[in-house]
Amino acid sequence: MSSVLAENLPDATGHFGPFGGRYVPETLMHPLQELEAEYFRAQHDPEFQRELSYYLTEFVGRPSPLYFAERLTKELGGAKIYLKREDLNHTGAHKINNALGQILLAKRMGKTRIIAETGAGQHGVASATVAAMFGMKCVIYMGAVDCQRQELNVYRMKMLGAEVVPVQAGQKTLKEAVNEAMRDWVTNLRNTHYILGTAYGAHPYPVMVRNFQRIIGDEARAQILEKEKRLPDMLIACVGGGSNAIGLFYPFLEDKSVKLVGVEAGGLGIKPEQHAARFQGGSLGVLQGTRSYILQDEFGQIQSTHSVSAGLDYAAVGPEHAWLRDASRAEYTYAIDDQALEAFMKLARLEGIIPALESAHAVAECMVRAPKMSKDALIIVNLSGRGDKDVAQVAAKVKLEMPK
Ligand SMILES: *Cc1c(COP(=O)(O)O)cnc(C)c1O
Repeated sequence: MSSVLAENLPDATGHFGPFGGRYVPETLMHPLQELEAEYFRAQHDPEFQRELSYYLTEFVGRPSPLYFAERLTKELGGAKIYLKREDLNHTGAHKINNALGQILLAKRMGKTRIIAETGAGQHGVASATVAAMFGMKCVIYMGAVDCQRQELNVYRMKMLGAEVVPVQAGQKTLKEAVNEAMRDWVTNLRNTHYILGTAYGAHPYPVMVRNFQRIIGDEARAQILEKEKRLPDMLIACVGGGSNAIGLFYPFLEDKSVKLVGVEAGGLGIKPEQHAARFQGGSLGVLQGTRSYILQDEFGQIQSTHSVSAGLDYAAVGPEHAWLRDASRAEYTYAIDDQALEAFMKLARLEGIIPALESAHAVAECMVRAPKMSKDALIIVNLSGRGDKDVAQVAAKVKLEMPK
């Protein structure tokens, strides 16, 4: 594979090969061009980078540790397992890395109002948090079903001063929340920035979000070189829209010896509308601004999806992942709900770490792979977030009882 893959993509039109691009109503073309221009200026502005790095250190708590999971490694009996601890970030997931980058950009562009979509609520909380910190107005769109599933995060957003708008359309989950956010943006372009939460959507969002999240991989690379004096053999990350995975993978793209494994939500199994594994039965299409793999029926209607984890429950995958899969640089598999629940409990009991259900999908795949690898092999699993938000849901699923 040539170095073109890592260095020069997306191209000037936001394409990763046949994927990506900018498929939006005419009214959004200008604001997206403006955002693109300002982002690329900021990216090369040392003052912007200095400010970003200040808040990542002082507010988010970076760098996050690369932790050797000794008991999990012993239990599985194969490769040595390291966890990249994004769960230890302020607000509990990797989302804050991107929310912080984008609000600094919004400030630079003179915007005073923030909008965002959210599924599980983690991106909503991250956006509400940075909006509070910079004194900006904040409106979060969230599917009405997700509001019920993730009550804790709804209250967190409200406490942080954000307005949470429950979206009643369609399946009442993430896809509908994105539609509402885009509608708001079109109407309020002058003072509003839309903080999109994953490596998805119209150009420049996929490249911009990836670059704000690549700090995960940049740190992990330096940390493993320091601890083990060599590169890892495998990286494993869960893939919703794809931001935590691409953030970890990107700085390793040129290191051909490093296997990249993305894990999608297998839900109840790979049957129509029972899962959210876009690379299992998805096909090429356009959804919400970009061209990628999408779960759609033969008429191009978006199919409904299912996952135990709201953060992976989306019908499309980020365009750069579609490209990495077509280029055979990364492989994509899935974990079903039951595997994720088992991994969730295992990590809690063996390591004293309660992971987000999303991250538990990555741990589940690690439980499949590690035993088949030699004891001197190295795996890094991205622990994208912590499981506080999922405690009630998992307690009900695994039938934990209150002490009497
Ligand atoms: C949102 C979320 C995800 C999925 O989003 P990506 O953009 O694919 O990373 C994964 N893990 C956690 C903890 C999340 O909050």
